[in-house]
Amino acid sequence: MKTKVKKNDLNKGNNDFAILLDQNCESIQQKILVSQTKEELQKIKKEHLGKGGKISQIFHQLINLNEQEKKENIKLFNEWKIKLLNAVKKKEQELTEEELKQQLLNEKIDITLEGKNLPLACLHPLTQLIQKVYDTFLRLGYQIIESPEIETEENNFTKLNMPPGHPARDMQDTFYLNNNLLLRTHTTNIQSRILSENPNQELKVISAGKVYRRDDDDATHTHQFTQVDCFVTGKNISFTHLKGTLELLVKECFGKEQTIRLRPSYFPFTEPSVEVDATCVQCQQQGCEVCKKSGWVEIAGAGLIHPQVLKNCGFDTKIYSGFAFAFGLERLLMIKYGIEDIRNFYLNDIRFLRQFVWC
Ligand SMILES: [Zn+2]
Repeated sequence: MKTKVKKNDLNKGNNDFAILLDQNCESIQQKILVSQTKEELQKIKKEHLGKGGKISQIFHQLINLNEQEKKENIKLFNEWKIKLLNAVKKKEQELTEEELKQQLLNEKIDITLEGKNLPLACLHPLTQLIQKVYDTFLRLGYQIIESPEIETEENNFTKLNMPPGHPARDMQDTFYLNNNLLLRTHTTNIQSRILSENPNQELKVISAGKVYRRDDDDATHTHQFTQVDCFVTGKNISFTHLKGTLELLVKECFGKEQTIRLRPSYFPFTEPSVEVDATCVQCQQQGCEVCKKSGWVEIAGAGLIHPQVLKNCGFDTKIYSGFAFAFGLERLLMIKYGIEDIRNFYLNDIRFLRQFVWC
């Protein structure tokens, strides 16, 4: 079969071998140029330029030529081989760049897309009130010390003048973990711990935290609530110190125009004991639903620390005395804001929670 002679810039020969070489190499070059993937390119390289490939087969045909033709065509053959290998290399680079470009396009993130607007959270009203109470008492030189919610029966009851069988224990039924450990019924357990660890010391301690009672939940009762306990020990501590401290607390929490009154009461761990009433912040003593038309609301229990409690904790009651009071934080917030159901504090309802910005 007669093959048409093609001129090319490399070829100086015009024999049949050169024609065959040119035609085949141009065809291979074309295949390299149009290959779409690296896999396809590698296949072309193996089939045509590899060992036993098309080019090798052509090379073996040199054997049929005379010495002069061999010399000329070997040069031509090598030039084509280099040209084709370079073409493969260049195409490989192009395909690699194209792959990378495609990958970047696929992984592109649209940073102009508008993000979700997440509302900022604020502190729970109970946490806000704890911080306010702590701030107030820190200014008065108190120490903040918190005590564990799992407490021994001795610290929760016995040391606080409620030995086994004491009727006051019935009013504070709680959750027992075993015969000795229970969920504390009041933050007053801080007194058992700190007084015992520091007998005959002058102490000023404020402590807030969760407490537990075996109560059925309703609008005014929950099995868990938040309490603050405050106590002072020293020489000649009297009711005057207690009253002044309570008045300051009420003015800080309810406003400077508010005041308190003390009513006799009974607690096992204080003697004498009082109930602390504050003027009703809702009606300014005109009488309303919150204060049940009395103008006063009960906010805390207080008294001088019972001498037996001090003795139980190693204090010499001839020299040392002290005062103590405790109050529920939910109750304070309910009075201040006219909240009717204590369970609102635990429902995690954002519509309820976002209403509170203390101060
Ligand atoms: Zn009122």
